[in-house]
Amino acid sequence: MASELQVGVGKIVSVNPATGEILRELECADESEVLAAVERAHIAQSAWADLGLEQRIAVLREFQRNLYARKSEVAAAITREVGKPLAEALVTEVLVVLDAARFLIHNAFSLLRDEPVPHGNLVTKLKRGWLVREPHGVIGIISPWNYPFSIPATETLAALVAGNAVVLKPSELTPLVALELASLLHAAGVPEDVFQVVVGEGPAGAALVHSPINKLVFTGSVGTGKRIAAAAADRLLPVVLELGGKDPMLVLDDADVDVASSAAVWGAFVNAGQACLSVERCYVHRSLCESFAQACAEKTKKLRVGNGIDPHTDVGPMIQERQVRIVESHVEDAKSRGARVLTGGTRMPELGPNYYAPTVLADVTHDMRIMREETFGPVLPVMACNDVDEAVGLANDSEYGLAASVWTRDPKRGERVARRIHAGTVMVNDVISCFGISEAPHGGVKASGVGRTHGRFGLEEMVRVKYLDTDRLPGMKKVWWHGYGEDFRRQMEGFLDMQFASNLTARLRGALRATGTLWRSRL
Ligand code: NAD
Repeated sequence: MASELQVGVGKIVSVNPATGEILRELECADESEVLAAVERAHIAQSAWADLGLEQRIAVLREFQRNLYARKSEVAAAITREVGKPLAEALVTEVLVVLDAARFLIHNAFSLLRDEPVPHGNLVTKLKRGWLVREPHGVIGIISPWNYPFSIPATETLAALVAGNAVVLKPSELTPLVALELASLLHAAGVPEDVFQVVVGEGPAGAALVHSPINKLVFTGSVGTGKRIAAAAADRLLPVVLELGGKDPMLVLDDADVDVASSAAVWGAFVNAGQACLSVERCYVHRSLCESFAQACAEKTKKLRVGNGIDPHTDVGPMIQERQVRIVESHVEDAKSRGARVLTGGTRMPELGPNYYAPTVLADVTHDMRIMREETFGPVLPVMACNDVDEAVGLANDSEYGLAASVWTRDPKRGERVARRIHAGTVMVNDVISCFGISEAPHGGVKASGVGRTHGRFGLEEMVRVKYLDTDRLPGMKKVWWHGYGEDFRRQMEGFLDMQFASNLTARLRGALRATGTLWRSRL
């Protein structure tokens, strides 16, 4: 890990991936600046926590109002920096955040308030127990570029409402959207030191991991996630890891081909395929496979690829050349092993350097990279299956387990199949929209991650639970304290008989024996 600790000094450049235009140059935070930000956050956090939940909810309400008022401006800033069509920026970023704020405004109070713990154990009946949810302190958030607003914002809102301060290290590719989030939060009344953005590349993230934060929420690739988990283990830093996916779509023999193919096309090409929840593998019952693949290809040919700022654009550019090269290599590998390209399969240099044509592949097999590694680009590979068991087996034959979908006209059947799939989320007859359901937990199993964001479970990650216990008879020495002897041993045996013996007589006898302990003298 030592080499990763060196903090990069210098600049990062925010670039519009549709045009190559430089949007802004920014200074990277060095290690001392990251540490200083965390220190300021620690100092500011206690006042923020002391403000109380109602006041913090009021700040969220103000943030929601401001974001709603500036929705188009924020969407345009997202499109400029990451390339996605304006409509997607509105729906999958701004709307998701407005709704996450709605969820927290309505539910944070009931989810975070103290909760009584009724006691079942007879020995402890004279006590009163409470769960108290306390903020961790300072939460570090490290976020990726593909949803540069909705990912850090949903995590930040949950952290803040629970009374934490946040230091965010956004992707080096999308710092401007993170600064936009900061300006919205500060305008709503979040103190500057309670939410801070440190701009930089991997080393700035590594500095945050090694700084005295109290918890880290990381979203990004499996490789970086593993490095972060190793560093976090060294200092027992609790982490949430939201990592990559290779989400399967299972199209059963009774599926509606028209609806399922439209879903596959949207699920594979939304955000130019650069979503952790993208449809990356499609398993279709053999009887429907050819018509399904052809329908996908026909619909894909109608997609308008271009600059996301044009409201007619369906699919924007990819984020950068490196990502295009990965897509290219996966498609080339599939073609060389016999995959059929139904449409796409090439770059679109006439539009700019980062455009790759939405691609549908048929005749793919499970040993191809396109079916095993995260592609994170606009490719929809379709594979035929003989039955549900085979489709479930193939869906589960992956190191990833983020989400999946099942397509059938019979929702009950869909639910039965969904329960057999190893994933954090399985949708029946929809894809990806789970990310916009603020009540639903988001997160994966296997290499897709650890922990959850969003909803009740996402909010629980932002607090540590303290168990508070008060004895109702402060003047009484406990019956189990020192001053043992044979009598006490027999009394305790009786006490166990009273609670757990299978027949009534043994229970009554045990109760009689146990009562003697009340008069026993204790130290
Ligand atoms: P990435 O792992 O390259 O980078 C993510 C973040 O980590 C960036 O801010 C980066 O600067 C930072 N980073 C890099 N090296 C670091 C280090 N050594 N220590 C600390 N921080 C470091 O990922 P990416 O390319 O930005 O994002 C794409 C990946 O994210 C895909 O795999 C995608 O599936 C995944 N993702 C997952 C989810 C989810 O919710 N599960 C959501 C979106 C994206």
